[in-house]
Amino acid sequence: MSSAEDWLAVHEAEGLKMVKAFCRIPSVSADPAYADGIAAGASFAADRLREAGFPFVEVIETGGHPAVLAEWVHDDTLPTILVYGHYDVQPPDPLDKWRSAPFEPEVRDDRLYARGASDDKGPLSVAILALRAFAETAGKPPLNVKVLIEGEEESGSPHFAPTVARLRDRLACDLVVSADGAMWRPDLPSVTVASRGLTALDVTVEGAAKDLHSGRHGGSAPNPIRALAAMLATLHDADGMVAVPGFTDGVKDPDPAIARAIEAAGFDTGEYYDSIGAERPDPLPSGRELLERQWLVPTLEFNGIFGGYTGHGTKTVIPDTATVKITCRLVAGQDPAAVAGAIETHLRGVLPTGYRLSVRRHGPGSAAFALDPALPGLSVAEEVLEEVLGQKPLRVAMGATVPIGEVFARQLGTGCVFFSFATSDEDYHAPNEFFRLSSFRTGQIAWVRLLERLATALA
Ligand SMILES: [Zn+2]
Repeated sequence: MSSAEDWLAVHEAEGLKMVKAFCRIPSVSADPAYADGIAAGASFAADRLREAGFPFVEVIETGGHPAVLAEWVHDDTLPTILVYGHYDVQPPDPLDKWRSAPFEPEVRDDRLYARGASDDKGPLSVAILALRAFAETAGKPPLNVKVLIEGEEESGSPHFAPTVARLRDRLACDLVVSADGAMWRPDLPSVTVASRGLTALDVTVEGAAKDLHSGRHGGSAPNPIRALAAMLATLHDADGMVAVPGFTDGVKDPDPAIARAIEAAGFDTGEYYDSIGAERPDPLPSGRELLERQWLVPTLEFNGIFGGYTGHGTKTVIPDTATVKITCRLVAGQDPAAVAGAIETHLRGVLPTGYRLSVRRHGPGSAAFALDPALPGLSVAEEVLEEVLGQKPLRVAMGATVPIGEVFARQLGTGCVFFSFATSDEDYHAPNEFFRLSSFRTGQIAWVRLLERLATALA
């Protein structure tokens, strides 16, 4: 056992006290009512980094909620890593569903219950404590370390990419290690090596210049709901696969290890449909097919559709417009702008005569993230996880969108290894969020070993 590990074992109670104090701060990023909590969250993170020995710690203005940047570059001959995390949390609502108050952390059954415990204050504290253990025992970390902690992750990180771009030189590193992200299942150690990107658009079809009486005009006037429904039906084939020409242009083959993880996962599809309360389709897709669709296949989903009268009773109206909200989850190689363009071109092609079409894109979207399977930092992380968790981790993809990996790849030209000890069943974003204290302890040991080994592996 290294002396940093000894220090962590001796100071376990102090570490828990620290993460509880962090969780007591209501740093909700989405709601301006919590502005004080955001400020307190940033300064708490900055103080803990100073306590962990960082000689340079700065609260950085971003144009939104501040970020915290710490730098400890003590030896030019050693590699440099950048640790990422976030101090903001999701809103605590609905409050009446919590067994203990969201900002009054409570330990029950070796779990810490609090908003932010799992996402991301617990896993971030794990990394900070491991860094502090080196400062307390060796006087410095085994390699150069920078830390970037943002305060807008839970509200879409609107200022994150521009901030990373602006600080590009100060953030330069050999590898990013994220203390955010979560292991997929408590029974299966995993590392996330890919996540899907996102592009979003609103599509509106307009018929007449105003709502019309369906008795007076029915049969002669254009009905945009009918036109839109017919157009949307052309976007997928009978199997639900996207049928837009150009949609999958540029798609790259995934890491073959993900296919092995899909096999090993033994995903029970019947149970899956039961768990979401949907009818089981007949025939039932295989577990492999379903996980491939969640992780490796791009999607086009209708998130909302509206037009005309949607209130109680009836209203005999022919609406002037109908709108659909669409989001696409993208895989590696797809360009978000090109995907939105392909959808728009397709819809213009199937627009019936007598209607107008307008398409509004929500921002530039984000590209998917895929880690280079041969990245040295990845195999070091896998080796450490196998050692502390007793099982070789699976390389998994994520259906959701985690923009940081792609932002760091684009702005800094570095890979990002996800090394969080949260697990996706820990009810983050929901009432009774918790973090397993076993993960809190194991995670600190793992971070110590990861930092030690990256010092030589990245050299
Ligand atoms: Zn998070």
